[in-house]
Amino acid sequence: MNILKSILQYHCPGCRSGKLFNEPFEFSNPLDMPERCPNCQQHFEPEPGFYFGAMFISYGLSAILLLVPALILVLGYDWSATRAMLVVVAIGAISFFRILRLSRSIWIHINVKYEGKAFGSPEEV
Ligand SMILES: [Zn+2]
Repeated sequence: MNILKSILQYHCPGCRSGKLFNEPFEFSNPLDMPERCPNCQQHFEPEPGFYFGAMFISYGLSAILLLVPALILVLGYDWSATRAMLVVVAIGAISFFRILRLSRSIWIHINVKYEGKAFGSPEEV
């Protein structure tokens, strides 16, 4: 599995096989993660406050995801700012949990080195 697929599918950065988040998804606890990877034992919170940096990634992703459509609608289609804002708020609401998880996934993939296939990981091309 390549790194992009691993990030987007929320896999462990160490083995790219174990899942980063507990299933099933719960709205009351969207960032529910196991303490360690069930496959390679990689710690998913290596130090207290580890995911503080993910906040900046989340900010950047949100800015791109919300600003680009708003500018396209206002400048390209001559929409009013209020009308474009309604669309942007809807996009933000729909993508909120996805961005939260994605930013954590990107952050841990930046900080944890890929160690190759751990014992028992499925064979992939
Ligand atoms: Zn792992």
